[in-house]
Amino acid sequence: MSEFELIRRYFCSEILQPERRDVCLGIGDDCALISVPEGKQLVVSVDTSVAGVHFPEDADPYDIGWRALAVSLSDLAAMGAKPAWFTLALTLPEGKGEWLESFSQGISDLARRFGIALVGGDTTRGALSVTVQVQGYVSPGAAWKRSGAKPGDLIYVSGPLGEAAGGLEVVLNPELDLPEYQSLKQAYLRPEPRFDLLSSLSGRVRAAIDISDGFLADLNHVLKASGVGAVLDPGRIPISSSLKSLFGEDRAFEMAISGGDDYQLCFMISPKRRLELEVCADQCHLQLYPVGVITSTPGIEGLNHFNSAGFDHFGRNN
Ligand code: ADP
Ligand code: MG
Repeated sequence: MSEFELIRRYFCSEILQPERRDVCLGIGDDCALISVPEGKQLVVSVDTSVAGVHFPEDADPYDIGWRALAVSLSDLAAMGAKPAWFTLALTLPEGKGEWLESFSQGISDLARRFGIALVGGDTTRGALSVTVQVQGYVSPGAAWKRSGAKPGDLIYVSGPLGEAAGGLEVVLNPELDLPEYQSLKQAYLRPEPRFDLLSSLSGRVRAAIDISDGFLADLNHVLKASGVGAVLDPGRIPISSSLKSLFGEDRAFEMAISGGDDYQLCFMISPKRRLELEVCADQCHLQLYPVGVITSTPGIEGLNHFNSAGFDHFGRNN
């Protein structure tokens, strides 16, 4: 199959190239041409997923496609941006039709949810790796940066943590692949970028980040960027009953605070906004979890004996 034929067959479906009036020229020329909505700022991010590093070599191609797009989109969700377009740079050892069909389906199913258009890419031969660049937009000044947290702000997370770390264990250990642990596996293989939070959080968030490296690591990025610290309430960190039943309380807690790949959002709001946020989230049937407070003292308090070398034990407040 020629490169051109491969692109036409697998990446030019109506789903991947939906009718969007802002795409003046999509796949097929040297560049895509896009009209950015008037008065908006373009928001851009790129992520590469490498076989054997970011996903198992023999993973289902559907999941590889879904995940590669999801992790990139999650960065847009973390900035409060509206997703719109993306490009795909694919490096493949060989152009196997069945693999490409399923890969393209995984990407399409997620892309369709948000009506985003694939506007271009690159296809090369080599070790399997998938790079997705996403573009979206925000009103000027409305993006949620890492640098906006202030002492007194409340720290929230958008869902149970450690799910994907647990899911990776399930993927790597087939004896754990039981019906009761499928939700963990899904969290790892098919993360959901949290655009569903956008309307509730819009205009209320002071700082935000998506949890890709692990809750503490990512919270630390916000603290450093904002020049603040945090006090956490470990008893409030959301952990699912499946994670606890599979790994026990302590290990589940360790996974929740340090496991990566969850793609939940961690965000900060002023305490004055708490009530309106919670009312709004309730109306949208969203569950949000307050897990601590921003302070002026650098560092994270509330967890004892945690350092980058690993986990010892935690001083629980309740
Ligand atoms: P060029 O050599 O000018 O970079 P290519 O031959 O690489 O062009 O690509 C031809 C067209 O197909 C371009 O519009 C490019 O954006 C698009 N394209 C290439 N690979 C992909 C892909 N994996 N997914 C989507 N579009 C792609
Ligand atoms: Mg090219």
